[in-house]
Amino acid sequence: MRLFDHAVVRSLPAVPRSVVRRVAAPYIAGSTLDDARRVVSELNAAGVRATVDVLGEEVSRPEEAEAIAAAYRDALAAITADSLDANVSIKPTAFGLKVDQGLCRRLVRDLVADAERRGTFVRLDMEDSSTTDATLELYRELREDGHEAVGVVFQAALRRTLADIEALAPLTPSVRLCKGIYVEPERIAYQGYDEIRESFVACLDALLAASCRTAIATHDELLIERALERVDGLPADSYELQMLLGVRADRGRRLVADGHPLRVYVPYGEQWYEYSLRRLQENPKVAGYVAKDVLGRLVPRATRA
Ligand SMILES: Cc1cc2nc3c(=O)[nH]c(=O)nc-3n(C[C@H](O)[C@H](O)[C@H](O)COP(=O)(O)OP(=O)(O)OC[C@H]3O[C@@H](n4cnc5c(N)ncnc54)[C@H](O)[C@@H]3O)c2cc1C
Repeated sequence: MRLFDHAVVRSLPAVPRSVVRRVAAPYIAGSTLDDARRVVSELNAAGVRATVDVLGEEVSRPEEAEAIAAAYRDALAAITADSLDANVSIKPTAFGLKVDQGLCRRLVRDLVADAERRGTFVRLDMEDSSTTDATLELYRELREDGHEAVGVVFQAALRRTLADIEALAPLTPSVRLCKGIYVEPERIAYQGYDEIRESFVACLDALLAASCRTAIATHDELLIERALERVDGLPADSYELQMLLGVRADRGRRLVADGHPLRVYVPYGEQWYEYSLRRLQENPKVAGYVAKDVLGRLVPRATRA
């Protein structure tokens, strides 16, 4: 990323929310479940699967966790009603992981059971490193209780991940592998772009060697290529590529045209701000988009080309 882009990334929290909302609009289906239904059905028509995320981050009160769980139940019901090729991705802290682990466990278990009845699936997103142990433990408990329609996420940036893969391998988990979005200290996380890539490939090799159903979540061309070399010849139901809504959609279309299974992460809801910031911070052209939006509103329409 160029210097100016870095400066804009650092100052994004100071950018007016209205600008963030407009510039980040392509990353979000909309604010309602109907928006998500429409976007998922368009993706399905183009041969792309989806995973639906009800936007929301860490909650501080049990009622908020109950409300998120209810929104997810509605999302699962909509997936069934519209016969969509979709599952859901949840953030354990939005289900109360840090407020009341018992409540979190009950809400997630009920949602997984609901997904199971409907023939779909729940992915536990991985959040920052303060939640890694509790999230893996939650996953393990669900599996030990006999639930199969649930998967975890591993972050290649964390130094512990290869060991975590090895520890869970006997359960042959369904896994999403990503780089990891959270800023973590050097002591526990790789910091360099290349070392994170190397770790990603090593983790991917370990997952495939352990016969885990593996979702490869990246827009990084080099990693997509490394992944395609590795899944060549594997049955199409043993892996999928995953991307975020609004990111490298052209590359996604090419993957599908080449016969690869692709799932797109579709967030919707009122709590769009934190998610939008994270996506903008990863967009290498963020400065241009933000500047264009701000200037576009400052310069009267008639004087624009
Ligand atoms: C389906 C999915 C689920 C995820 N789930 C989690 C999770 O549970 N936990 C977690 O910590 N992280 C998660 N992530 C985020 C992930 O960890 C990375 O932060 C994110 O994918 C960016 O890394 P990258 O591999 O795409 O590589 P990058 O090096 O960040 O991106 C590669 C290229 O993709 C393009 N690109 C990337 N992001 C953008 C953007 N926002 N706008 C425009 N272009 C862009 C650019 O061309 C960039 O050069 C998920 C990602 C995906 C795709």
